[in-house]
Amino acid sequence: MQIISIMKISKLKGIPDNKNKGNIPKDIALCERCLEELKDKNNRRHNYPFTNCSYCGPRYSIINDFPYDRENTTMNKYAQCKMCKDEYVNNINRRFYAQTNCCPNCGPVLKLIDNSGKTLSGNLIEMSRIYLKEGKIIAVKGIGGYHLVCNAENEKAISILRDRKKRPHKPLAVMAENIDSIKEICYVNEQEEQALKSHIRPIVLLDKKQEISLPYILAPNLNILGLMLPNSALDYLFFDSDIKYLVMTSGNISGEGICYEDDYAFDRLKGIADYFLYNNREITTPIDDSVVKVVCNEVMVSRLARGIAPFDIALDSEEKILALGAEQKVSFCLLHKGYAHLSQYFNAVDNLKSRKDYLDTIARMLRFYNVKSDYVVCDIHTGYSTSIIARDMSQERIFVQHHHAHMASCMAEINLDEEVIGVIYDGTGLGLDNAVWGGEFLVGNRSNFKRAGHWSYVNIQGYDKAVKKIWRCAFSYLYSIKISSEKYIKGINLADFKILESAINNSINCTASSSMGRLFDCVSALVKQIHTVSYDAQAAIELESIIDKRVSGCYQYEIITGNTYRIDYKKILMGIVEDIDKDIDRSVISAKFHNTIINSTLELVKKISSESGIKKVILSGGVFENTYLLSGISKGLIKDGYDVYYNTQTPINDGGISLGQIAVAAARLKEAKNVPCNTR
Ligand code: ZN
Ligand code: ZN
Ligand code: FE
Repeated sequence: MQIISIMKISKLKGIPDNKNKGNIPKDIALCERCLEELKDKNNRRHNYPFTNCSYCGPRYSIINDFPYDRENTTMNKYAQCKMCKDEYVNNINRRFYAQTNCCPNCGPVLKLIDNSGKTLSGNLIEMSRIYLKEGKIIAVKGIGGYHLVCNAENEKAISILRDRKKRPHKPLAVMAENIDSIKEICYVNEQEEQALKSHIRPIVLLDKKQEISLPYILAPNLNILGLMLPNSALDYLFFDSDIKYLVMTSGNISGEGICYEDDYAFDRLKGIADYFLYNNREITTPIDDSVVKVVCNEVMVSRLARGIAPFDIALDSEEKILALGAEQKVSFCLLHKGYAHLSQYFNAVDNLKSRKDYLDTIARMLRFYNVKSDYVVCDIHTGYSTSIIARDMSQERIFVQHHHAHMASCMAEINLDEEVIGVIYDGTGLGLDNAVWGGEFLVGNRSNFKRAGHWSYVNIQGYDKAVKKIWRCAFSYLYSIKISSEKYIKGINLADFKILESAINNSINCTASSSMGRLFDCVSALVKQIHTVSYDAQAAIELESIIDKRVSGCYQYEIITGNTYRIDYKKILMGIVEDIDKDIDRSVISAKFHNTIINSTLELVKKISSESGIKKVILSGGVFENTYLLSGISKGLIKDGYDVYYNTQTPINDGGISLGQIAVAAARLKEAKNVPCNTR
């Protein structure tokens, strides 16, 4: 696979990127030499939290304008002292032309307050460490926004944080001081170690070891943990002999993006944090931590954010197009002068504040590149927040189907422009027939596609509710194949089943769905007895977490031939309830279910390929965050002689949709322009 991994991105390391005037520079983690200075008692930057040099430090998160020069960053209000200035003008100094250069005499400073707003004085770092040891929660302003921080070895502190943040299950990221501490609690291979140490300093999803000192509630029901190494000078200062691991979770309230403005952060987080560690270096562009994992020896970016965004991809088009993404994990993408610039992840833009941050970031990017787009691209779902934003823009709109965008995002990333088979396994996306799609076999290219196959439709009652209350989803599946839910979904009132049943019989608020995400929800509800999920994809992640990898068996399934192929779920679910009846271990059932998806997918790809002659297969969509599924399907296809591609540098989930939208729109515009005038 022709992939530029994170390692290649990190080739930037060692090259002061302020000399690269072409694209917007990314934020870079503290370099080794700055770290040495930070720890050196005799250095003038000893313990100075804003230490950096030409090779490291914030960039994208603090720029107001382009090019990247000090006066265009929020460092413009700090005049360099004599010693800093000398470094800055000395062309053999490491800080020559370092735009964020500063020191304790001239740069930003910390400020510590409690959650009543009272300013505290003393050694602020020392005091913060004491609070952390006492089990307190501190909102810390980092590079791209606020983190909520507590001691990751203190179970009580974590449970208070979970309570206050109203986040009962979603895994919390952990920062460790060094790689050895990470290896004590997780398995780390060479690529994972490189990713952890790369200048991006992302959260890396790692397999958790069995007996570890960290509380189970950090990532309940999961066998993975998200770990990262310190990113800024400030991060390093929290660690000492008593603090080895810190919870570092985004400082936001649920549904909103990361807080990055001091007053707003205080207002939003004062009910969660006991203390606030501010600093007076302003953040212009909110940006979360990036999240990556290693799959089949390759780094895959799950959340494209700090250190990577904006991600620039060459795309053969002279158009100026802005694409706005979908509804969840929203990003935007700007095509300009043959480059698609993919933005960082925004949580969602369905609330006022997040929408403002998103629109401000778009406006800033347009200003940086001094461009006005001629077209705006959105999803065919006109109710999405991003589609409404597009509607209110003056540019001509181009609509792109969700799963076509997933397929095209991968094609753009790997620079492929020909007919492919796209297997798109996803949560929710509106189909051309108004059903919810998400278990799709597409055949097409960047500009167009046809639906060659899909998973059988199920009629899901109250779709939006069923996404969270997954027992409702399971009920809809079981009812469709005449299996009693009473027996297989425990602890739900009979009356609730009756209400659903009558709603389905009367076709009240029912949605046809071929979504693979919903099938996973259903199976997870049956196998793990999860009724309600509190974060996106929780049911699927927990189901993947219990797979017994020694099991090679699978359930029966049926591929129905018609206008389009359909893989039917009926036999699969019947096999599962039969195994539940036989008290088969749920780790075995989970493995067999996953194997069934893999085998049926391989079989249908072969059918479609033998008819179309296409041997190139794209795998995309959020369900492919499931590593077992992704590696099983890709290995199976490769074994059978297919060329298999999936997103690695850009998110395989909805974070990559805006890039796909750009690729589709650019291809369509190119085709339209190639059509001779007299045939239009
Ligand atoms: Zn440095
Ligand atoms: Zn100075
Ligand atoms: Fe999607």
